[in-house]
Amino acid sequence: MNPTKTVPYENLQKLNQPFEAEFRASFDRFLVSGWYILGKQVATFEQNFASYCRTAHFTGLASGLDALTIALQVYGFKKGSEVIVPSNTYIATILAIVNNGLKPVLVEPDLRTYNLDPELTARAITTKTVAIIPVHLYGKCCNMEALMALARTHNLKVIEDVAQAHGAEQNGHRAGAFGDFGAFSFYPTKNLGALGDGGGLSTNDPQLDAAVRMIRNYGSKVKYYNEVAGINSRLDELQAFFLDVKLKALDDINNHKRHLAHLYHTGLTDRFVKPVVEAGYHDVYHIFNIRTPERDALRTYLENHGIKTEIHYPVPPHRQKAMQGVIEGNFPISEEIHSTTLSLPISYCHTDEDVEYVIEVANRFHR
Ligand SMILES: *Cc1c(COP(=O)(O)O)cnc(C)c1O
Repeated sequence: MNPTKTVPYENLQKLNQPFEAEFRASFDRFLVSGWYILGKQVATFEQNFASYCRTAHFTGLASGLDALTIALQVYGFKKGSEVIVPSNTYIATILAIVNNGLKPVLVEPDLRTYNLDPELTARAITTKTVAIIPVHLYGKCCNMEALMALARTHNLKVIEDVAQAHGAEQNGHRAGAFGDFGAFSFYPTKNLGALGDGGGLSTNDPQLDAAVRMIRNYGSKVKYYNEVAGINSRLDELQAFFLDVKLKALDDINNHKRHLAHLYHTGLTDRFVKPVVEAGYHDVYHIFNIRTPERDALRTYLENHGIKTEIHYPVPPHRQKAMQGVIEGNFPISEEIHSTTLSLPISYCHTDEDVEYVIEVANRFHR
């Protein structure tokens, strides 16, 4: 079959087209500045992004994985301590725990929200638990009010994984501003995406922020004096230029995605399980997923009609080869999600017509 229209899942060139002139001007300023690492622009972007997050501090780092890893490293938890994480997260969240010599304790998500279930989280807390990493998956804020209350009761640290949720909110409070840390990624496809790798940590605690700043720069505050065993994980100066351009458009990007999500919500038939919409939550739809037991057939059918989709994610963390002997237990909710979920096109590069075409074709799917 030769489709008349094609809809890519993502098109980064087109997504970034509106910013090209400003990117070029930024690059010129960067080039003539002669300062390529941790310059004024990283500091400016850090301040601007901290205000966006409504936190006191933000420190730019090399990636989202580094942000999660450094947040845990700051506390120097005893090896083997337990960190609670949702069983359906992206592998990076779990790697950050494992790479710190800590034990990931996977908790099943709520099948309606795909986010950590506060009740199941409470049941997973032991005397060895030191932290919770809620992941605001697909751009929807977790029930942070319940999770923060739980963490306070049990004296646990909270590191939010905000890689998919720049600007998401619960009851007017921004993701990344609830916990001790908010770990962000600026990977090119994220809601705020760089033209390369990038990430960082938001926090309201000046001491935690100072610790992160040392670790990212070889454990040093003053050049050539090393106070802790740090690493090299600095947000690139050039990426900070690009990110500052796009930060001004982040609310536009999120609103565009919310608008496309609204089209899907109202247009798609109820035979597909759509993302839940709850009062008090401002969702930013990094991903718009639907679920159906006929996921694989639907995906092929859409592809035959020129529509590209993705699966987030095809293999749950506990089934990954890399996690053999690391993760124990059965995770039926996670398996259910991983075998039925399909992500539809919902980028800043997509038009209403693109999404209306996807809706029209998907609604005609039958087998
Ligand atoms: C993208 C992502 C990360 C990792 O970010 P990188 O910048 O690619 O290292 C971590 N957690 C989640 C949920 C993500 O989606």
